Amino acid sequence: MADLAVEPAAPRVLARPDHPVSRGGMSPAVVKVMYRLQRAGYTAYLVGGAVRDLLLGGEPKDFDVATNARPQEIRRLFRNSRIIGRRFRLVHILFRGEVVEVATFRATPDAPEGPDDWEEAVAEAAENDAEPARGPAPPQVEHEVFGTPAEDAWRRDFTINGLFYDIADFSVIDYVGGLDDLEARLIRTIGDPERRFREDPVRMMRALEYGARLGFDLEPRTKAAIASCADDIVEASPARLSYELIEALRSGHAAPIVTAWTRAGLFERAFPGVGGNADATARALAELDRAVARGERPSDPALLGAFYLYPLYRELADLTAGGRRLDNVEMLNRIATMIEPAATNLRLANHTVHLLMQGLFTLTKMQRPAERGRQVLKLARQDYFPVAWTLYGVAGALGLAPADAHRAWSSAVERLHRNEDPVAAPADEGGERPRPRRRRRPRRRRRS
Ligand code: ATP
Ligand code: MG
Repeated sequence: MADLAVEPAAPRVLARPDHPVSRGGMSPAVVKVMYRLQRAGYTAYLVGGAVRDLLLGGEPKDFDVATNARPQEIRRLFRNSRIIGRRFRLVHILFRGEVVEVATFRATPDAPEGPDDWEEAVAEAAENDAEPARGPAPPQVEHEVFGTPAEDAWRRDFTINGLFYDIADFSVIDYVGGLDDLEARLIRTIGDPERRFREDPVRMMRALEYGARLGFDLEPRTKAAIASCADDIVEASPARLSYELIEALRSGHAAPIVTAWTRAGLFERAFPGVGGNADATARALAELDRAVARGERPSDPALLGAFYLYPLYRELADLTAGGRRLDNVEMLNRIATMIEPAATNLRLANHTVHLLMQGLFTLTKMQRPAERGRQVLKLARQDYFPVAWTLYGVAGALGLAPADAHRAWSSAVERLHRNEDPVAAPADEGGERPRPRRRRRPRRRRRS
């Protein structure tokens, strides 16, 4: 809980000419939502990560709004809205195909969070086909306690996340020293770090995540508190931990985030038995980060596969040592054993486990160029093929998959996408590709 005793009496306010945050950088939907709240007589602030990212000149991932309107009042103002979660009373407003999250200002939450509540919320969010309500919402056992804007700033996690943008006069309002810390590029916990981490251990992971994502340092007391509270991470609810992991993997900064968690001793405690050697994992994750930077959006099973690429190829080498033929059943068994801790500890859905396992197994079938187009077609039709294909790209880049096979499979899949026979070699590629045993096939299509 934040130390309200040291709360400054008045916030620092930057008028519009003195900061770079403009409505042009926001989604039109969020601007409309704030204006409608304001016209109805309420205070409406843009809050959290969006203000931080706009001040840094970046592009926010999503836009959160805080207001003094109560959830029921918000609902009355927006027809397309619904209250999310029974206890945390966030309102989601569907506005032109986009979801804007609006929360009522809250006082510092001091009730311990109940994991069941959180899981309930995640399930509910999934049911509504919305993003799980993560964000400003450590679940509360007691009734919601609404608060002032100052209290709402102080109950947030880090100073750079506690800034407000006021739609009424376009000013930026800073109750917590976030502007100075943005300038200094520091992640500083609001209030006493140890107390805040014991209250919600997931904040430790978030601190390191922001540090890695933004390239900021952790302020020394925050850093020290992570060292002394690392053990507490096991108290966090598994659903929240796995949510944090998936978000990190998707972020495009997975390698530095997971590395920071590992160095702080949080990864192994939070996700026991998940993945193998940390450096190897970081290399695989860095490749997926590059894919995200190119604009790709690898699926969750593909992202999780990064933890198992090196172990997979190690097992494969072991099982095929001395030119032995691969025993598929044994290979599948070993993959199953390998991913079991992730399946259990991350509470993965059965379908995710299936895609991860078969996706990995498929890589063992791509050690040699495909001999027949049918083989490529058959594999490409499987639901797990996209997972395998993403991971095969990573394996190729890391030199895990044999280069000749990788080249051949890449051109086969490319040809498949162009609706051509995957294995028929065009004349200009003739000598390039090692071509095993060619069979004459009656239905071979000609290039025109
Ligand atoms: P992102 O760019 O990842 O969306 P964000 O800062 O917006 O970053 P969210 O998880 O969307 O992060 O949360 C929104 C805001 O809610 C945060 O900026 C922070 O102010 C507050 N918040 C989120 N999680 C916590 C927490 N565990 N404890 C206190 N405050 C939190
Ligand atoms: Mg956010």
